[in-house]
Amino acid sequence: MNMYYKSTRNSSVNVTSAQAIAQGISRDGGLFVPSEIPAISLDDIKKLGKMTYAERAFFVFSKFLTDFTDSEIHYCVDNAYNDKNFDSDNIAELAHLFSGTYMLELWHGPTCAFKDMALQILPYLLTTSAKKLDLGKKIVILVATSGDTGKAALEGFKDVPDTEILVFYPDDGVSAMQKKQMTTQEGANVGVCAIKGNFDDAQNGVKAIFTNAEIADTLAENGMQFSSANSINWGRLAPQIIYYVSTYAQLVEDKAVDLGEPINIVVPTGNFGNILAGYYAKKMGVPVNKLICASNANNVLTDFINTGVYDRNRQFYTTISPSMDILISSNLERLLYHLCGENDATIRDWFGKLASEGRYEVTDDVKKILGDEFYAGCCDDAQTKACIKGIYDKYSYTCDTHTAVAVKVYQDYKEKTGDDTVTVIASTASPYKFSGSVLSAIGADTDADEFALVDKLADASKLPIPASLAALKDKEIRFSETIDKNDMKGYVFRALGIKE
Ligand SMILES: *Cc1c(COP(=O)(O)O)cnc(C)c1O
Repeated sequence: MNMYYKSTRNSSVNVTSAQAIAQGISRDGGLFVPSEIPAISLDDIKKLGKMTYAERAFFVFSKFLTDFTDSEIHYCVDNAYNDKNFDSDNIAELAHLFSGTYMLELWHGPTCAFKDMALQILPYLLTTSAKKLDLGKKIVILVATSGDTGKAALEGFKDVPDTEILVFYPDDGVSAMQKKQMTTQEGANVGVCAIKGNFDDAQNGVKAIFTNAEIADTLAENGMQFSSANSINWGRLAPQIIYYVSTYAQLVEDKAVDLGEPINIVVPTGNFGNILAGYYAKKMGVPVNKLICASNANNVLTDFINTGVYDRNRQFYTTISPSMDILISSNLERLLYHLCGENDATIRDWFGKLASEGRYEVTDDVKKILGDEFYAGCCDDAQTKACIKGIYDKYSYTCDTHTAVAVKVYQDYKEKTGDDTVTVIASTASPYKFSGSVLSAIGADTDADEFALVDKLADASKLPIPASLAALKDKEIRFSETIDKNDMKGYVFRALGIKE
């Protein structure tokens, strides 16, 4: 079966995966979605249990990237998912937290957050796509980041031939360690810039640049073309499906679940990419009961899933889980496209309203499916901290602030429903990325710089300090520019050496 990709805002668009990945976003502003969701059988899953992560990745990609040859897919997965890039042979680790509850640790890659799972492979997918399409242009990656994507994308793309990467982050919206990771980035093809604004401003700015035909023409005249490393790019989403398929296969292999027995998946959510990958895994055939969507104080998704009304007209909070400080969750558009019967007119209507009024309401049918497939909950910073302390004291497990939001929402779910289905909680960052908040949660003194805090957390958690974070201490700051959010286009042209 050949797989094609449509735009959520124009169903008549029909492109190959190479085109979808190279382009990043459809010209009409829609996101690329697979025209059909490929199926995997329980028999397939059983076989995957005996395979390595890279082999499981090959299996899943071969369903979605039907325009890639086997050797192209092997080239991509083997270069990404190996023990040079990840500090665990399993790539994603499954830790047992308590009876029937597992932490899926997705942060064993080079930048210590789950974004590495996709961004270690995206440069290979993208450059392979560009070669297949014979683009002959330099690909310029623009990234809006709430902290983790930026660094993971920079690490993935640094010094990749024929690419240039520019990252925008909100000046006051990232942790000290995240900022240090980005501003010290090495590589000849990288740029990092702070903007006065929040993540949504950065994301809107990047989307506006992407969909501006005049800017695209100017780039083309200069032998360049934009693409995206944000989860609006299908090349980010497909790799995330793999770890849910892989985890289920592993649970079966470990006899933690019977083949066919459903599991719950809990995801600390921001842009809705990670949890959407869980939804795709379910639709492919992974037995999943509930997808549990956990939010911090920016609980626009909780309200949406519970009421069917998406309303971004609300206070924006800067929290201790900054990678989830988002009021516009881009990937929801993909989910809704599938849920409303792939009706592009409906999506244009809803997302048009989101742009003009900041609000839309879905139909009763869609509300019903949302309620069947998902459970949504949220917690504030005080509850997040109490949760970190609770599981530290009770299970001697140290988790980061984002993961703690998921654990807390899962505890609330379990109390409310009594559901004792085996559950996998996505653990999205190493606690070392947020040492200050984690230490303060467990009641330690935090009056020190970010590196002294890392040492303190090592004492408290007994977890090995990731080498990449320890090495930052002696790196020099290369990027210190802060710009107005209206000057993003100007920055891009300056960085690329293009005259306006
Ligand atoms: C990006 C991120 C999230 C949110 O993931 P989405 O795919 O945007 O929903 C959660 N936790 C951490 C640590 C992240 O970096």
